[in-house]
Amino acid sequence: MRDIVPVPPSIVQNRHAEVRELFNQFVVPTYGRFDLALSHGVGSHVWDVTGKRYLDLGGGIAVCSLGHANDEITQALVEQSRRLVHVSNLYYQEPQGRLAQSLVGHLAPGKVFFCNSGAEANEGLYKLARKFGHDEGRFEILTAINSFHGRTLGGISATGQDKVKKGFDPLVPGFRHIPFNDLQAVRDALSPATVAILIEGIQGEGGITPATVDYLLGLRALCDEKRMLLLLDGVQCGHFRTGRFQSYQRILEGLPGAADFRVDGLSMAKSLGGGFPIGAFWVRDQAHGVELCNVLGPGTHGTTFGGTPLASAVALKIMEVIERDHLADHVRKTGDWLSTELQRWVIQYPDVIRNARGIGFMQGVELQDRESIRAFADIDKAPSLQMVNRLHEAGLLTIPSGTNVVRFLPALNLPQSQLAEGLALFERTIQEVR
Ligand SMILES: *Cc1c(COP(=O)(O)O)cnc(C)c1O
Repeated sequence: MRDIVPVPPSIVQNRHAEVRELFNQFVVPTYGRFDLALSHGVGSHVWDVTGKRYLDLGGGIAVCSLGHANDEITQALVEQSRRLVHVSNLYYQEPQGRLAQSLVGHLAPGKVFFCNSGAEANEGLYKLARKFGHDEGRFEILTAINSFHGRTLGGISATGQDKVKKGFDPLVPGFRHIPFNDLQAVRDALSPATVAILIEGIQGEGGITPATVDYLLGLRALCDEKRMLLLLDGVQCGHFRTGRFQSYQRILEGLPGAADFRVDGLSMAKSLGGGFPIGAFWVRDQAHGVELCNVLGPGTHGTTFGGTPLASAVALKIMEVIERDHLADHVRKTGDWLSTELQRWVIQYPDVIRNARGIGFMQGVELQDRESIRAFADIDKAPSLQMVNRLHEAGLLTIPSGTNVVRFLPALNLPQSQLAEGLALFERTIQEVR
């Protein structure tokens, strides 16, 4: 007699379930995760634990600036970690100084403070603004509706979206929100306590909305007139993502005087470390007759890990590769082509795609509402999530932004041929769901 042995479940499926179960049991459930367990990557491709390959057009939310498992980043990590990983900010060390020099060189005369994340970089800007206005009793910072500035208590207070604040009051006082790209709204909102305005050059979480030329120029003039600081959150839209180091440099390009345009403070993180955690803020040398870059003096601000030799060496290597390989030009050219393709979709598939926006490697398509898309209508889930899930099935990683926008935030070295493959998969999916 033969025993009937049940077929064992596939090992890869076990691993997927096992990884997910670890999260269910042991990780605080603050994220609505997609049902993918990723295991390794190369360049702009990643594999999940079942062995399925995906083209990553989300770049870990604009973080993996040189893609996955980049050899030169690995080498920088190994070499620096053999020499010195951490010493604290009680001492000088060359990598942090060199990185600050490089960042200042891409902006304008000023200084840099290093931290570990975008939210923390913005916290530094809030403290800069408060210290700057302190002796005049000014403390209030205006930020935009639909902005995103991070998840610390200060970050959610600054963020112009109710969903991040809900359940966490009392919030940090001193923030008010105004409609984005509306100069009159800023003027109307000013109070004697207003000391700064903070905006993203391109709103990311809010649905990929670039600041207009008039808005940027108007804010600068208003800040000059009222002795306020113009602060830019470049955490997502910065680091060459637009084809220039910072989004405002690209947005204002070609205008007379554009090269002289300055913001007073600017936050960075995401792409800066290519996946190794590092954040920073830059502050201008002089503003309103004050040495702004020295307003935060000894003892006023700090962090244990900010700008370790290891993080700084990695970020420096990334800067070096971006310059050596002319990745800003690559992003500009490839991003312009991406814009053209997305605009074609708006015309060709108006029943699915309502609009397309963005610059360079920070672009998004706005989907029609769920009811209008045949395959989405029955499921009570935002169209952006449904589309991103479908794209996973097709082998493509993208990032939802709000309920209707699907974002592209790929590695800066993504070849155009791979982007074309990704867009072909996306287009086929659009044709399937309409
Ligand atoms: C991601 C993001 C932040 C927060 O960065 P963390 O590293 O998550 O703290 C802040 N501002 C913008 C514009 C972002 O996209």
